[in-house]
Amino acid sequence: MIDLRSDTVTRPGAAMRAAMAAAEVGDDVMGDDPSVLRLQARTAECAGKEAGLFFPTGTQSNLAGIMAHCGRGDEYLVGQLAHTYKYEGGGAAVLGSIQPQPIEHADDGSLPIARLAAAIKPLGDPHYARTRLLALENTCHGRVIPQDYIVEAAAFARRHELGVHLDGARVCNAAAATGKSIADLCAPFDTVSICFSKGLGAPVGSVLVGSRALIDGARRWRKVLGGGMRQSGVLAAAALYALENNLQRLAQDHANAERLARGLAEIEGVTVNGQATNMVFVSVAPEHSAPLGAYAAGQGLAINPVYGAAMRLVTHLDVSEADVDRAVGIFKSYFATQA
Ligand SMILES: *Cc1c(COP(=O)(O)O)cnc(C)c1O
Repeated sequence: MIDLRSDTVTRPGAAMRAAMAAAEVGDDVMGDDPSVLRLQARTAECAGKEAGLFFPTGTQSNLAGIMAHCGRGDEYLVGQLAHTYKYEGGGAAVLGSIQPQPIEHADDGSLPIARLAAAIKPLGDPHYARTRLLALENTCHGRVIPQDYIVEAAAFARRHELGVHLDGARVCNAAAATGKSIADLCAPFDTVSICFSKGLGAPVGSVLVGSRALIDGARRWRKVLGGGMRQSGVLAAAALYALENNLQRLAQDHANAERLARGLAEIEGVTVNGQATNMVFVSVAPEHSAPLGAYAAGQGLAINPVYGAAMRLVTHLDVSEADVDRAVGIFKSYFATQA
């Protein structure tokens, strides 16, 4: 099966499983798990931050991060299409009593400074929530957000005494795509959430990095949210393995996505709407959406029409260049039968 639904579908290979089996463990709620401590320290170092904290999911890592910045009745500025706003069940509002202020994205995925400025509430007026945080995302729907913009937005936020958080679920893809270091991409932010269960290929886990004070705050919220894990070193070992072995190869996923986009663009009936890092966005006529999905599944290709008739195809470490060519072939043969 070639699975292009997401980069979350990767399965740990033999070497990663061996690292998990060999992991030294302890009770991490008591701070005793050496593998977790090593992963947190390595990730923090990689991101150029003081401290790190291991979470079961990116959703929880983002939420605990936002809760470390904001209290009840506070507000965070966030993109209309951001994961932390749109795809996390409204957790900041539901569980944190923190109001999101969604902002319309510009065409390049950034949140224009003028829109941020207009959304900040007057301080001290009890009519308003207190604006406390700017949350950005990079990559955002596969797109690398321009670093010049990020530096400018973070400086703007600081002038307004806002914290700055990055949902960096795929910040390692941004690093691979730009050649910038992860530390450089994380430098403008107080906190960054980094996923190991996406392109990096670990089965589970995210690390929140930031200053010691913010990470201490997030640790308390992690426990409250039910994310205090015990011998989680078996999971941290997979993430450590990913950090040491799977960063460099992300460029291959991007090259495979480009190849996929080029191949699909040649097929009559398929419109390629865009490609960025490891994601390809395509659309087909609505009446083809379900039959194409069923045909592809029958041929051993899993695709997911997530945006109506539009779909997002994602490359990852279980998709080879040959798999990309096979996937293009399956699209081609479906549309050949429709002619
Ligand atoms: C996957 C993802 C997350 C976290 O998701 P989990 O499934 O909870 O690990 C956060 N932000 C973005 C942009 C993501 O793609």
